[in-house]
Amino acid sequence: MLESLRRIVQEVNRALSLDDALHIIVSRVKEAVGADVCSVYLTEPGNREHVLLATDGLRPEAVGQVRIPLNRGLVGWVAEKADLVSLNDASTHSRYLSITETGENRFRGFLGVPIVQNRRVLGVLVLRQREARRFGDDEVTFVITLAAQLAGAIELGRMHQQDLMPSRVLSGMAASPGIGFGTAVVVYPPATLEAVPDKVIEDTAAEADTFRAALKDVSAEIDRIGDRFSQEDRAIFDAWRMMLESDSLVDGALQRIQSGSWAQAALRDTIAEHTSVFDQMEDPYLRERASDVRDLGRWILTRLQNQSAPALVYPPKTILVGDDISVMQLSAVPTDSLAGIVSSGGSASSHIAILARGMGLPAAMGVSDLPVSRMDGLDTIVDGYRGRAYADPEPSIRAEYERLASDEQAFAAELDALRGLSSETTDGFSFPLYLNTGLVSEQLPAGSDEAAGVGLYRTELPFLVRDRFPGESSQYNTYRRILEIFTPRTVTIRTLDIGGDKPLSYFPIEEPNPFLGWRGIRVVLDNPQIFMTQVRAMLLASVGLDNLQLLLPMITTMDEIDESLRMIRRAYNELLSEGHAVKMPPVGVMIEVPAAVYQAEAFAGRVDFLSVGTNDLTQYLLAVDRNNPRVAALYDDLHPAVLRALTQVAAGARVHGKEVSVCGELAGDPLGAVLLLGAGVHSLSMSAASLLRVKGVIRSLSRGRARELLNDALRCDTGAAVRKLLIAALDDIGLGGLVRPGR
Ligand code: PEP
Ligand code: MG
Repeated sequence: MLESLRRIVQEVNRALSLDDALHIIVSRVKEAVGADVCSVYLTEPGNREHVLLATDGLRPEAVGQVRIPLNRGLVGWVAEKADLVSLNDASTHSRYLSITETGENRFRGFLGVPIVQNRRVLGVLVLRQREARRFGDDEVTFVITLAAQLAGAIELGRMHQQDLMPSRVLSGMAASPGIGFGTAVVVYPPATLEAVPDKVIEDTAAEADTFRAALKDVSAEIDRIGDRFSQEDRAIFDAWRMMLESDSLVDGALQRIQSGSWAQAALRDTIAEHTSVFDQMEDPYLRERASDVRDLGRWILTRLQNQSAPALVYPPKTILVGDDISVMQLSAVPTDSLAGIVSSGGSASSHIAILARGMGLPAAMGVSDLPVSRMDGLDTIVDGYRGRAYADPEPSIRAEYERLASDEQAFAAELDALRGLSSETTDGFSFPLYLNTGLVSEQLPAGSDEAAGVGLYRTELPFLVRDRFPGESSQYNTYRRILEIFTPRTVTIRTLDIGGDKPLSYFPIEEPNPFLGWRGIRVVLDNPQIFMTQVRAMLLASVGLDNLQLLLPMITTMDEIDESLRMIRRAYNELLSEGHAVKMPPVGVMIEVPAAVYQAEAFAGRVDFLSVGTNDLTQYLLAVDRNNPRVAALYDDLHPAVLRALTQVAAGARVHGKEVSVCGELAGDPLGAVLLLGAGVHSLSMSAASLLRVKGVIRSLSRGRARELLNDALRCDTGAAVRKLLIAALDDIGLGGLVRPGR
């Protein structure tokens, strides 16, 4: 049974259309179970009916014609219950609906199994047999197992079959607020060299020209993209440029073309030859260069495959669309041409979403039914408040969004009036707001000067865009720049937090459970040279400015704190003895795993401050992967369990008179900010786009009112109830606009 199950699922997944897939299902299931009939009805909720779309055993002419009203008949009953119905004689059942067109009144035994995805009934699989008998347990469990696996393929087939209907709403998760209008530009993962077939060509001169043209395109792109990064971020681009100019790579490929190979295979073999030389090298650094050569090879291949279509052109309002948009793909678009992001993968807490928020760019993530392959060039609207996108929107939808966008502009003008005002409650309590950032280019996000300083500088971004670990002087330059920009305001720089969903291409970590594995402080304590280099660079960068605070991510045990403090002190002593006027900065730890919540008091006794990372804390408390769209509905940082954890952390820090900040996304949510104020947190840190909104809410209520609201929230059973309570409270003080979609 297992083997035939696997075979059927494979065959269905390979089907080219929904009709093919359904045809395979009915014929294979009928055969495997030995039934007399197998049919599939798909549910059309809009038309309130189930439509017979495939059958093996009933009259073929009934396909597409027989439509059963939503809650009628046995099929309707299966769908209604979302559970199976097994009967030895269907015709005697009170829900039986006699349908003559199919010729099924000849059959008695009945098994109906719902096809369900994400709690939604997509349709019903029906088996019939001539004689009156129930299907056996083995047959029933086989069909249930199969139906559970077919739902995905059926849904996909159905989506591909539907034409991209104008204004069909594509739903995902709200990832970065705002409304974006523009033209979809689809980005794909790079082409694979290994998949290139051999091909012999006649006109070798023309093929050589094609190859040279591709090299020229790539070279121009490298120049263009590389120029957007600072000197020290540009290493990989310089390395690629040198390779492009090297004789061995270019001549090697041209020789292969001269002997009759088409350019793509010539490139494939030349790149393979080069990487094998690097692969055999002793030195691990040089061995790593193989991946740079491969990357360059893929880039050239992409150009060769698109010779007719030149390098990606970004229209003035580009909406970047893709399955998995990388930081590189995002940074390749000129900043002033970007209007939004729509991604089928990821979620609001993915790093690409965090970047989007930092740039004030509307984004919808986890849009699982995104027809990526058919969206390129389409007029698109992104609604970053609701996590939706519209391809080729109808005029009425466009008009509605234009109205929302103009409301938003008016609202932004209202918020503008808050510029320069202090972040203070109505009873005069100062609640400073800091900025979350992680610069990859020279630009600071607009509005940064509103911040009291930087509450979280994520150092992984400068590490991600390089091709190797940056050295002390390169890191010094990066940190010095941010400390100088903000001096005398404090800048909290976090030590490297790689692993989880932030892999470095040059330091691969392969693990079955990356979020529970080698991540954050664990990686750098196991590699003291990486930690020491980074800490030395930070301390040196702060000389004469003395506005640095140092933050340790993913702390789970007191030993990790002690070991980190020992190394920080060692770096400090080393630098002092080398004659640098370094100062020991305040050191804090992030509270982002449940263990740290329970030990917050003890941790606060050991360090200078705590900073709560609610993104990870929510993920670990609720056991919900922050990047998995399937469980995204369960990810809720207003969940009462998260709020209780926060109050416990604040209480723990209070015992030692230490400050607590919150730097997860909850801090930038006006609703979250109210609760955090009530919980006795001392400051918040958020992306630039949230600063004025949060300031607006802080300036509109007293600390006492925030405490009352927190207490009410702690009595709620669910995150949804907390949200409702707070929205009503903000509405009461005339701030509903801060949280209502469209603003
Ligand atoms: C967090 O986990 O809340 C946090 C701020 O860190 P990051 O999002 O970088 O993991
Ligand atoms: Mg984190």
